[in-house]
Amino acid sequence: MPDEIALELKNIRHAFGDTVAVDNFNIDVRPGEVVCLLGPSGCGKTTALRVAAGLENLQQGTVKVGGNVVADSSTNVPPERREIGLVFQDYALFPHLTVLQNVEFGLENMTAGERNIRAVTVLDQVGMKWAVSRYPHTLSGGQQQRVALARALAPQPPVILFDEPFSGLDARLRDQIRDETLHILKDSGTAGLLVTHDAEEAMFMADRIGIMREGHLEQVGKPEELYFKPSSAFVAEFFGEVNRLSGNVEAGVVNTPLGAFAAGDLEEGRKAEILIRPELLRLNGDVDAPGLCGRVITSRMLGRTSLIHLCLCEEVGIEVHLHSRMPGRYLPQEDQEIHIDLDPNQAFVFPLDSKS
Ligand code: ATP
Repeated sequence: MPDEIALELKNIRHAFGDTVAVDNFNIDVRPGEVVCLLGPSGCGKTTALRVAAGLENLQQGTVKVGGNVVADSSTNVPPERREIGLVFQDYALFPHLTVLQNVEFGLENMTAGERNIRAVTVLDQVGMKWAVSRYPHTLSGGQQQRVALARALAPQPPVILFDEPFSGLDARLRDQIRDETLHILKDSGTAGLLVTHDAEEAMFMADRIGIMREGHLEQVGKPEELYFKPSSAFVAEFFGEVNRLSGNVEAGVVNTPLGAFAAGDLEEGRKAEILIRPELLRLNGDVDAPGLCGRVITSRMLGRTSLIHLCLCEEVGIEVHLHSRMPGRYLPQEDQEIHIDLDPNQAFVFPLDSKS
């Protein structure tokens, strides 16, 4: 494959009337790589995918598949000729065709026998070989989604686009089908571009995540980069709640009720906000230890972790409400005083007047 990029979107801009849905949008997906577009409702994720697929006519920019231009100012290859598989939320199977016929539908340049073998092979891969002669309406949502995946995989496209493919499934089935989908993509070496608004899903599926905001990509990187080194409060908050504090930069630090945080390259006098993930607030019963002291408001078991609501003890003089997340079962009593450990170097510091 030329230059080893399965799908490339370059300088894409797309508007619906006055609404600019996607602007200055650039992303590439390599063979075997899964990239997720993650962002809130209306930020342009689906539009970016539809432009890539050719379901929206390109207005500006370039789309390449396997190094070949499929859309630019002078080219517009129709969707069915782009060598892109599509798996969308509503499965979009043909109701009047059997499962086998649905999967055979997109297979060209093959004899009837070859089509049959290929369709049965991919249906077997997704665990749906048993349903070859069933009609879509006789299958559950999860089963239909597997057939939709088989249909997308059957022509062996270099790229498959997924638009919220698991959101119609209940939690357990969703976990199972996204796990299977990930393994199938990795085994087949197919590139995947997947749209979701679910950060956990993106972290589960993606080699890289692009966080979208108001039509543009705010940050692109490996899940751990985005989680541990977010470029903005918007990105940080997308991966779970944060404790927020604020203060002014003085002598290179931001002083807060939780202590001083290095201000990095923020200039003196600048108002800054500090974001601290709940798991960074480590609690223990040693209240005489030097450091921060909190009082438990309430605590809740959430499964793998416990969430403890805290305020800082009165000496600080400011009402500060914090959330700490501790592994396993950790349920201190209400009103109990508790010691808080925090590594200030792991907190995020951003200018407060930036758009966050
Ligand atoms: P969601 O997560 O809710 O599906 P999204 O991030 O996929 O949202 P898009 O569906 O791409 O967002 O929409 C981006 C913007 O473009 C929104 O403001 C939306 O209202 C607008 N938009 C999308 N499709 C159309 C259309 N066909 N006509 C007019 N405006 C549209």
